[in-house]
Amino acid sequence: MAIEDAYLKEVYSDLAKRNGDQPEFLQAVEEVLETLEPLIGRHPEYRQAGLVERIVEPERIISFRVTWMDDGGRVRVNRGYRVQFNSAIGPYKGGIRFHPSVNLSILKFLGFEQIFKNSLTGLPIGGGKGGSDFDPKGKSDNEIMRFCQSFMIELERHIGPDTDVPAGDIGVSRREVGYMYGQYRRIRNDATGVFTGKAVVCGGSLARTEATGYGLCYYTDEMLKADGKSFEGKEIVISGSGNVATYACQKATELGGRVIAMSDSDGYVIDQNGIDYRTVKAIKEERRERIKAYAERIEGAEYHEGCRGIWTVPCDIALPCATQNELDGPSAETLVKNGVIAVAEGANMPCSPDAIARFQGSGVLFGPAKAANAGGVATSALEMSQNSQRLAWSFEEVDGRLKGIMSEIYRTSAAAAKEYGMEGNLVAGANIAGFKKVAEAMLWQGIGL
Ligand code: NDP
Repeated sequence: MAIEDAYLKEVYSDLAKRNGDQPEFLQAVEEVLETLEPLIGRHPEYRQAGLVERIVEPERIISFRVTWMDDGGRVRVNRGYRVQFNSAIGPYKGGIRFHPSVNLSILKFLGFEQIFKNSLTGLPIGGGKGGSDFDPKGKSDNEIMRFCQSFMIELERHIGPDTDVPAGDIGVSRREVGYMYGQYRRIRNDATGVFTGKAVVCGGSLARTEATGYGLCYYTDEMLKADGKSFEGKEIVISGSGNVATYACQKATELGGRVIAMSDSDGYVIDQNGIDYRTVKAIKEERRERIKAYAERIEGAEYHEGCRGIWTVPCDIALPCATQNELDGPSAETLVKNGVIAVAEGANMPCSPDAIARFQGSGVLFGPAKAANAGGVATSALEMSQNSQRLAWSFEEVDGRLKGIMSEIYRTSAAAAKEYGMEGNLVAGANIAGFKKVAEAMLWQGIGL
């Protein structure tokens, strides 16, 4: 697919000129714009209000120095960011990523995607994303704490429960959220919650830890059911072994599937008897070891070096849950040849554009990240509601709401695709439905936002 409409083409080429050094951001924008043509055609008022050129430009970008001291007494410096992309429908909402690869291109792509994902949840949350090029791997607990506290010394003045509510992402889990939230609370003398993904004893929501992985499986289940299929008896490959991957493994197994492979950035394991998510959780979440340890512990499991090889493992369903652009065209080709029937994105933008084209062109059911992994942020919004009400809901209540939200996201996206003449194209459906709500809110609020 390519951008055909003259107005959208012009917006994209202006953006590309100004952001030529930001390939991930341009990839994310192009993927959205190429599906918007029928919507823009029906709504000339969007063009008159300059809506597309406004939506592709972040409302605010904050970049700052983070100075901290390592255990050896050496002063270290990293760069911190917050991209406050769009607040037309609610406070900025999106995770914080700590990874050496973090730069503006990656955070702008994530923030841009977040706008439409958050809109699709049906909840009042805008889009944002933040992070740092800090590498938590190999750091002591004290170093992590000092870094998080220093990061918050600057970030605290830009966030608030009605302004911007961050959460976790790659390299940021309950531990890091706890240190950042603690620092915010000390500085501001304010216990209104502000972060989501907190430990339950700090005001976090039950089921938030599980939400992205569970939500991914609820969405995939809807997609399969609409095609007369289910998880029952299917073989599943899940990349990554972090938060999203671990709980996707649990839920896919509970829904009757068998997860046969998982990975980390070093390599992947195959366990034909079905991967036990509790062992993965103990290895990765509790002991912070490598996935290789799974094969050392479980009889019959094999370990293979190199993370991309995971896509050569024949399976019925593939759930990429690690990172952006981890599944390229040739990997998609191999999956298709091996008979994959469904692919749903747990990570953000894990499939390259040619991989998506390959799946869609071969009749493989394809669920895009904006819709398929929206369960995490949806449950974060439920955490915000509980914090404002000073209430805590049960696991079952939160999980039930999550399931309802994921079904609704599927239905809304499928209906939008049909309404705009692209039936079955869930990428187009998610982009159109997510974009339309934000565009309408911006129209109501006049030019200047
Ligand atoms: P984690 O840090 O918990 O886990 C990331 C996992 O991916 C780790 O196992 C990591 O391995 C692995 N990984 C990283 N790079 C690669 C690679 N190139 N190949 C194979 N594995 C790799 O992060 P999350 O699970 O939270 O996030 C994963 C993805 O899901 C990200 O794209 C994130 O933006 C997205 N997401 C997360 C949400 C959440 O609620 N957490 C919500 C919505 C989306 P290693 O340990 O070797 O680095």
